[in-house]
Amino acid sequence: MHVQELQDAPLAPLTTFRLGGPATRLITATTDDEVIAAVREADDSGTPLLLIGGGSNLVIGDKGFEGTALRIATRGIALEGTALELAAGEVWTDAVARTVEAGLAGIECLAGIPGSAGATPIQNVGAYGQEVSSTITEVVAYDRRTRETVVVPNADCAFSYRHSRFKAEPERFVVLRVRFALEDASGLSAPVRYAETARALGVGPGDRVPLAEARETVLELRSGKGMVLDAEDHDTWSAGSFFTNPILTDEEFAVFYARVAERLGEGVNPPAYPAGEGRTKTSAAWLIDKSGFTKGYGTGPARISTKHTLALTNRGAATTEDLLALAREVVAGVHAAFGITLVNEPVTVGVSL
Ligand SMILES: Cc1cc2nc3c(=O)[nH]c(=O)nc-3n(C[C@H](O)[C@H](O)[C@H](O)COP(=O)(O)OP(=O)(O)OC[C@H]3O[C@@H](n4cnc5c(N)ncnc54)[C@H](O)[C@@H]3O)c2cc1C
Repeated sequence: MHVQELQDAPLAPLTTFRLGGPATRLITATTDDEVIAAVREADDSGTPLLLIGGGSNLVIGDKGFEGTALRIATRGIALEGTALELAAGEVWTDAVARTVEAGLAGIECLAGIPGSAGATPIQNVGAYGQEVSSTITEVVAYDRRTRETVVVPNADCAFSYRHSRFKAEPERFVVLRVRFALEDASGLSAPVRYAETARALGVGPGDRVPLAEARETVLELRSGKGMVLDAEDHDTWSAGSFFTNPILTDEEFAVFYARVAERLGEGVNPPAYPAGEGRTKTSAAWLIDKSGFTKGYGTGPARISTKHTLALTNRGAATTEDLLALAREVVAGVHAAFGITLVNEPVTVGVSL
């Protein structure tokens, strides 16, 4: 094997938070065979395994990880007609740029999302009106239960808002490749679904625009919120959104609505988006802001981003415990104000909220 192997390896530099202690062993694999061999070896010896792509959705405890951390660094972008296949370790933003250059629509609004292609199905990555579940046809994964490589068709991925079968069964699947079906719309984007993007582009919802324009507009909107990685900017030392947007049943929403009126006055309408039969999604960023945690909140080394209330950030000298203390403060504050318990979006390793 040509894999790179390190003992007692720091994991913080592999995460966008730049937080977390060391792993007993760190393996970097650059081929599917190396990935599978490393997973099998860990499973055979009963060693705990942590999969790492770009580390942009990981909160690793200060004590680190006792076991094997496997960094998936496979590369490959294959485009054939409108069919796209990405190796799990491929850099997602590079893949988006390639499809836009090739004149193919479907993932252009997911520009600027850090991390690897292989992690995109895990939480059904989404932004600005697009989610990977709309374009993924199948996921090639190593199934640790059957010890075989399997092809999981979209219908069996159980995709939902920031969730999937892969997230539900974290110890089971190692994503090796992700296949997408894109659209050839003669150089135009998919219909623009997100109001903010449509406004910025000066078009109506449902219109199409040149692909490059869609991508660049999304990148600009994201930069303004600290949602594009920039090593110099501590507002991007984050995992993007730290909390998911709560989805409430009709009854829960009615109770919430009354709480909003009580706290903020009659006539204040909280954000509400249809989220399926009898369900409404509200905005975690709005809840956080209205609970008194405004942009830049905090005095310690972990603070709310100065550009977006939904991002918790490491100002440079934070520990994971500092970050979690801030996260717990926000969860408690929002619960006290509105009776809603926020749920963290990033995956926690060796710690919990
Ligand atoms: C500034 C910023 C902005 C962001 N904006 C968005 C956004 O707009 N929308 C959005 O959805 N997310 C966003 N994110 C979150 C994050 O970028 C995505 O979730 C991304 O897909 C994570 O990829 P990663 O390779 O970094 O995963 P990692 O952080 O390395 O891993 C995340 C999880 O996936 C698992 N995993 C990784 N690779 C594999 C694999 N090959 N097989 C099986 N499991 C694997 C890990 O074990 C872990 O549980 C943002 C993050 C940051 C820092």
